[in-house]
Amino acid sequence: MSKILILTLTEQRDKPVDERLAQCLRDMGHEVMVRNFVLAGSDAVTVEKPDAVVLPMIGSDHKLNFARQIKEWGVVTIVRRGEAGAGRVALEQMDEDRQRVVVGDYDYAEHIDLELVWGQEFADILAERGRMEARKLVACGPFTLDVCTQYERQARPGKRRVLFATAFSAADDHPDYTECGLPEGNPLQRRLYARHAELRALWIATIKNLVATKSHKYDFALKVRPGESTRAYQEAFGKTVQILPYDYPSGQAIAASDVVVHAGSTMAIEAHLLGVPSLNFANCNPDPILANACPQVNDYGELSEALGRLVWGRSNIDTDKLTWLEDHLYGPLDGSACHRAAEAISRVLRKGRKKPQIPDQWPREPRYQRQDTTAEPGPDHVRMICPSCKNMFGLHHESQWGVCPFCALTVRKIIAQEAAVA
Ligand SMILES: [Zn+2]
Repeated sequence: MSKILILTLTEQRDKPVDERLAQCLRDMGHEVMVRNFVLAGSDAVTVEKPDAVVLPMIGSDHKLNFARQIKEWGVVTIVRRGEAGAGRVALEQMDEDRQRVVVGDYDYAEHIDLELVWGQEFADILAERGRMEARKLVACGPFTLDVCTQYERQARPGKRRVLFATAFSAADDHPDYTECGLPEGNPLQRRLYARHAELRALWIATIKNLVATKSHKYDFALKVRPGESTRAYQEAFGKTVQILPYDYPSGQAIAASDVVVHAGSTMAIEAHLLGVPSLNFANCNPDPILANACPQVNDYGELSEALGRLVWGRSNIDTDKLTWLEDHLYGPLDGSACHRAAEAISRVLRKGRKKPQIPDQWPREPRYQRQDTTAEPGPDHVRMICPSCKNMFGLHHESQWGVCPFCALTVRKIIAQEAAVA
């Protein structure tokens, strides 16, 4: 049996799935650990010396370099996609930049032994576009939807609880830079930033309005999208809306609510599986089928009216669209995605392989130096410590972000300020 290290990207979206996958693998007799990819990935490899590593989607130079390095040492490399990608029709309607974000723009195939995706149609697209060889792709089913079946909806007396699930992570990025796989200065990032900032402002104004007029009928909770900060919402709402911690599992949040208001999210399907209705407010999802799977509303008046018309305790999903989504995007909604993934991993590990040769320390050569960074900080540089490889480097004092010269992680500059004394 093998030693397997699973590296989690987001605590909120990926960790519950990775823990479930770990349990499936343990049931098959493997030794498995789950660690945070950015904060503990390289240390976990050099200390634990696993036979196989499960990585998030290769969507940055850092992830590509990481995969290449461990593959060189003889580790079996597996990618598990945290998101469904897109069906063929939806993908072909997107502009080229957005297609690149969804499909991935990095040549990782030679460094990866197995890639686990949600639906078969997206697996076919990855093979056709030359991202990955077809024989290394396995469609497992909707991973995050697998997890939500483990929660059970709680019947609650009293006021109805409205859960707002935001989708505006690009509003927290720099207008010119994002970690979602787009190159610096890409026009799509400027458009996404502007769109997310605009929609977030609309959501905040609308929720304030609901709090002011409907608090006698509803309690309000809010959960941010993976990767999004809670700060803007905390500043706007104070204690009038319960802001859930950024790593709160979505299934658990839905199970404790009576309706989910989202912006065109897979959470509509999670809500359906838990028998909770949902509303798509100010859609920002480019997939037209997913966007229309539940009723859409666009302003305070429509939202307030739609809330008043809901049948509580019953899903309001369009079942034809749900079947279409299973066939073209998610794969079967049978709660077995993690089990299929564990079987695929076990099959790859059964092939006879040599034990990996892993050193005790991650390499410390500055291989990714750019103009604004230096391995030896000088007078024009701010000293930075990379959260991933823990090496120190210098970043030019005018730059807002830089690429770690040792591991290629993109690191944003955060200037700590002294707290004002009241
Ligand atoms: Zn680093």
